[in-house]
Amino acid sequence: MSEPKTDTQSSARVTPMMEQYIEIKTANPDCLLFYRMGDFYELFFEDAEEASRALGITLTKRGKHLGADIPMCGVPIHAADDYLQKLIALGFRVAVCEQTEDPAEARKRGAKSVVRRDVIRLVTPGTLTEETLLEAGRPNFLAAVTRLKGAGESGDGHGRFGLSWIDISTGVFRVRESDFSTLAADLSRIEPREVILPDSLFTDEELGSFWRALPMATMPMPRAFFDTASAGERLSAYFGVASLEAFGAFSRAELAAAAAALAYVEKTQLGARPPLDPPSRETAGGTMIIDGATRANLELTRTLSGDRSGSLLSAIDRTVTGGGARLLAERLAAPLTDPAAIADRLDSVSRFVTDASLRDDIRTALKTAPDMPRALSRLSLDRGGPRDLAAIAGGLEAAAEIGRRLRKSKEAPSSELSTVSRDLGGAPDDLAAMLRAALAEDLPLLARDGGFVREGYRADLDEARALRSESRRVIADLQSRYAEETGVRSLKVRHNNVLGYFVEVTAGNADRLTTPPANERFIHRQTMANAMRFTTTELGELEAKIASAGERALAIETAVFAELAAAAVAESERIKRAARALAILDVSAGFATLAEAEGHSRPLVDDSLAFSIRGGRHPVVEQALRKRGEDPFVANDCALGPGENEDTGHIWLITGPNMAGKSTFLRQNALIAVMAQIGAYVPAVSAQIGVIDRLFSRVGAADDLARGRSTFMVEMIETAAILNQAGPRALVILDEIGRGTATFDGLSIAWAAIEHLHEVNRSRSLFATHYHELTVLAEKLPRLGNATVKVKEWKGDVVFLHEIVAGAADRSYGIQVARLAGLPASVIERARQVLAQLEEHERKSPADTLIDDLPLFSATRAPAQTQAGQGAANGSSAVEALLDEIEPDDLTPRAALDALYRLKAARKASDD
Ligand code: ATP
Repeated sequence: MSEPKTDTQSSARVTPMMEQYIEIKTANPDCLLFYRMGDFYELFFEDAEEASRALGITLTKRGKHLGADIPMCGVPIHAADDYLQKLIALGFRVAVCEQTEDPAEARKRGAKSVVRRDVIRLVTPGTLTEETLLEAGRPNFLAAVTRLKGAGESGDGHGRFGLSWIDISTGVFRVRESDFSTLAADLSRIEPREVILPDSLFTDEELGSFWRALPMATMPMPRAFFDTASAGERLSAYFGVASLEAFGAFSRAELAAAAAALAYVEKTQLGARPPLDPPSRETAGGTMIIDGATRANLELTRTLSGDRSGSLLSAIDRTVTGGGARLLAERLAAPLTDPAAIADRLDSVSRFVTDASLRDDIRTALKTAPDMPRALSRLSLDRGGPRDLAAIAGGLEAAAEIGRRLRKSKEAPSSELSTVSRDLGGAPDDLAAMLRAALAEDLPLLARDGGFVREGYRADLDEARALRSESRRVIADLQSRYAEETGVRSLKVRHNNVLGYFVEVTAGNADRLTTPPANERFIHRQTMANAMRFTTTELGELEAKIASAGERALAIETAVFAELAAAAVAESERIKRAARALAILDVSAGFATLAEAEGHSRPLVDDSLAFSIRGGRHPVVEQALRKRGEDPFVANDCALGPGENEDTGHIWLITGPNMAGKSTFLRQNALIAVMAQIGAYVPAVSAQIGVIDRLFSRVGAADDLARGRSTFMVEMIETAAILNQAGPRALVILDEIGRGTATFDGLSIAWAAIEHLHEVNRSRSLFATHYHELTVLAEKLPRLGNATVKVKEWKGDVVFLHEIVAGAADRSYGIQVARLAGLPASVIERARQVLAQLEEHERKSPADTLIDDLPLFSATRAPAQTQAGQGAANGSSAVEALLDEIEPDDLTPRAALDALYRLKAARKASDD
């Protein structure tokens, strides 16, 4: 965004107001400037052009600058929040510039003086606090990323990164140090609304395209923002502590990121301080690693088409509060890996499964509990109103009531619920009582509207109010007296902003007031078409009395508001703990409700390598089928754990016709694992899962055109990531890998990948494929099992039974599915003929022979050789050795393409 040009020669022709505008705009070059003029925020120059395009509002012009028209557009104050919301959603930042003095003051300085204006706030996507701009059930994070050059280079060569994320609307403040691939996974997990990073990193040759492709607003900032030397000091100063050690030991990268995030908060809030929690450090290993592609693919929080409904989150969310929904999203983003912690969360859910009346009571009480953390954050930023105070009062009352209910029930709670109970017990009741005593029933949105302090709370306020209403009564009396004295029965005392109180009579009665003796008392002010208006000294005096009583009342109310807000902010810690406790109850009781409604059961998550699901279902598809009134979901088992005397998981190779339910089966098992490890009951009859530390899910041929990579390239890059990173505790889901290229190339890659998974990664894996040829691998690889989806043929059509059984599919039924899809009969007929011919041909040179001949196959006989990297004694090990060499996170698209050419060349060489 370029700023308007000025030059000394023509600045003489710049109006004083434009001069002020340009000065303020120059200080805020990366924001749209909302410049307050009367009842509008006006935008000028390029800002006006951008905003009118983005908001679909009319672009006009106002005056000239350097001889050219000044483009302008405006938004009315009363609708400003709606427009802000739209702009923020589109990733803009907005500087709100208000008049900071009364126009009368400006006039005193001279007729041409401009009213003083100043930016009172920067609104950016990551630093929102307004109810209208926030989504109730979603955290609103700002993230700061920094890179430390030379600090213990990580394997991928990109260096170490500090990441910090803050939600100023709830106070959450976290930090973490990691390598680049973990950072990328963290960003897709946290889903910040805005990311700040040093300019140099933003324009980095290798990583620049990564930042530009991020779906959220990214904001390069000067390096000084990320200065490590002053980072500790900035943080200590914010939290008023002598040393940060009290909060834990932070690395330099973490400190720099945390301090930068904080500096950005201070910059956008212009010094006001939201009640942030001290930064807490997220360490590696505590949560299941799920990269961005896997998250997207499993549709954890939104579907592949970007909708929230249809995602796992929306299918399992039975929370009833904003705080509960946010905590659920947070938990879903980071499933645990500690079986004891998972069991403890499950204990909380069990408690509500077994005690339905406790659950119902708590959910009923939660439904009325307002969102305390967000109200608290607005109050502490001086942006709150009386309703925020009432929200704190209501939240604390709900906390007290729920706490009592919880303590009444006898059963031994989980340790999570014990903490909840303690935190609810520790909620400041006295604050709630004080707020209730002070606040009236009906509350205005803004404190400056007055009328929110309850009668009887402050004697001086009651007095001022009495005076005001007394004066109003006196005015009513005056009206009847004047009517009587003048003999004009229709005389009225009215009020408007220009005249204040005045007497009005119809034009026909006017001369009764304009002639002696009445004309001494009634001073003529205005002649209307049908009426005449007068004032009197008495009215003037009363007016002044009412105004001063009103002002006094408002001043008292404003002071009361400030006192109450300060009292609430002083209790931030206890309020936030109580709010967190309510959110935990909401999530646990929500899971219990879900479990009961959907027939979910408690999983067992332990330290083993088991993966044994009986009667598993897909939590989203099952609900969707029911909603559409279709046949019920067919439950399926899955067992990938080590067999007797084995210490390594198994791979299932699933073949079967299109539309049979392969993808659904693959995903349901991954989703069951995720649900189990966030501490939810799962859609299965029973589930035992040895804790999964990393989850991978890939679907062949998913496009990533936004990043300019070809379909197949994406597939290969992602497959390479899995083969390089998955370990024995990982769960790997591969759906039709290899289908994005020519049949034999794809088949060969799929083949080699399975061997690698079996021999090197040794992860529990599910692999769905249309390459029936791969099923022969089961004869050679001891821990590979074939499974297929049952179908039956009926009058030439295929009927899907959706049942997974051991064995390999005998055929594809592709043509039958094509017929179901409505391909023209002539095409179907022709396809049958071609198929028959191909099959005939196949019979003459059976696929098994072909497969046996594929040099790749011999690799399975000497896996140790490939593993040891002893190279290319034959074609398959050459391909494998090449695959081993590929470090996917290091690859530019170009390098990846080269790697592919090398892979193909190696295979061709072996064919020859
Ligand atoms: P393709 O090979 O064409 O990708 P697929 O075998 O992966 O197909 P899915 O996409 O998993 O098939 O399933 C197709 C549809 O079948 C689903 O949308 C769902 O409606 C239904 N379906 C899948 N699994 C089941 C099940 N276990 N019970 C009932 N219906 C199911």
